[in-house]
Amino acid sequence: MTDRRTELAANLAKVEERIAAACAAAGRDRAEVTLIVVTKTYPASDVRILSELGVRDVAENRDQDAAPKAAASADLPLTWHFVGQLQTNKVRSVTGYADFVQSVDRPRLVEALSREAVRTGREVGCLVQVALDAAASGRGERGGVAPGGIAELAGLIAAAPGLRLGGLMTVAPLAGEYAGRQGAAFERLMDLSTDLRRAHPTANMVSAGMSADLEEAVAAGATHVRVGTAVLGVRPRLG
Ligand SMILES: *Cc1c(COP(=O)(O)O)cnc(C)c1O
Repeated sequence: MTDRRTELAANLAKVEERIAAACAAAGRDRAEVTLIVVTKTYPASDVRILSELGVRDVAENRDQDAAPKAAASADLPLTWHFVGQLQTNKVRSVTGYADFVQSVDRPRLVEALSREAVRTGREVGCLVQVALDAAASGRGERGGVAPGGIAELAGLIAAAPGLRLGGLMTVAPLAGEYAGRQGAAFERLMDLSTDLRRAHPTANMVSAGMSADLEEAVAAGATHVRVGTAVLGVRPRLG
C-alpha cells in the first residue's frame, strides 16, 4: 500500500509537470485545466490514495466497475465523471454517483438521464460526446455524435429538467482524416465548442486529451484532460 502510494504520487507529479509545461507553452494559466484521473479497472483503494494525494476528479467508463467503487469512496470529496458508452438501462445506477456524464450521444439517453435526475433530485452535468470520425449525421464506433448532431443534442440537454449542459467531449479518432493528428482533432473540437457557446454561453467545458496526447489537448484549449495510464499504470486487459 505504501509502495502504491509512492508510485501514484510519483506518476501524478509527472503528469502534473506535463500539464503545467503544456499550459506554459500555450500561454495558459494552469488553473484553466482540470485533471481528471481515469480510474477504470483499478480498485477503490487507489481512488482513496489519489484523493489523499489531492485528486478531486475521477472518471470511469463501465457502470459495473464504477458503482461499487463510487459507493466505497462516498466519504471522499470527489467529482465523478462517467466517460463510457452508456446504455439506458444503466442510467439509474450511473445517476446515483456521477456528477457528470461526458458521453451523451443520443436523445434517448438525454430523456433517461433527465428522468432519473429529476426522480432523485440530482443535477447531472452532461457533455455531448463528439465523434470526429463519424459520417455526417451518424454516430461513432466508440460512441459520440457527428459534429452535425451537436446542436440538436445540446438543445435537448439544455431544455431537460435535472440536466445541465457542460460542453463537449471527444476521444481522438484512431482512423479517418484525424488518425495520428490529435492536434488537428482537438482544434476542430475547439471550433465546435466556439459554435456551441454562441447558443449556450455557459457550456464551456472542453474535455479532450488522454495520457498520450494531453499536450495537444492543452495546446488546443481543452479545459479537462482525462488521464488513466500515466497515473495508474498500464491497465490489465479487460475480459
Ligand atoms: C480510458 C479512457 C481515458 C484514459 O486513457 P489513458 O490512455 O489511459 O490515459 C480517457 N478517456 C476515456 C473516454 C477513456 O475511456
